[in-house]
Amino acid sequence: MSSYETPVCETLHTVGMADDNAWYYCLKHHKAEQGKACWYGDRMGPYPDQATAEKALEIAKARNKAADDEDD
Ligand SMILES: [Zn+2]
Repeated sequence: MSSYETPVCETLHTVGMADDNAWYYCLKHHKAEQGKACWYGDRMGPYPDQATAEKALEIAKARNKAADDEDD
């Protein structure tokens, strides 16, 4: 039930405010990058720090795996 109450628009506002300092995982260079280094379409994020950005792919895999487990 708790996830239902999370407003999507709040996430978008946070992204806009923190964009310059936020960390992203760059799919083009396969590394964590801070700020608007690369085209947004090549990046995952934003994330609060470099360590989290570097784990972006792991986090995405874990989410996909969780979704697959639910389907089973
Ligand atoms: Zn890059």
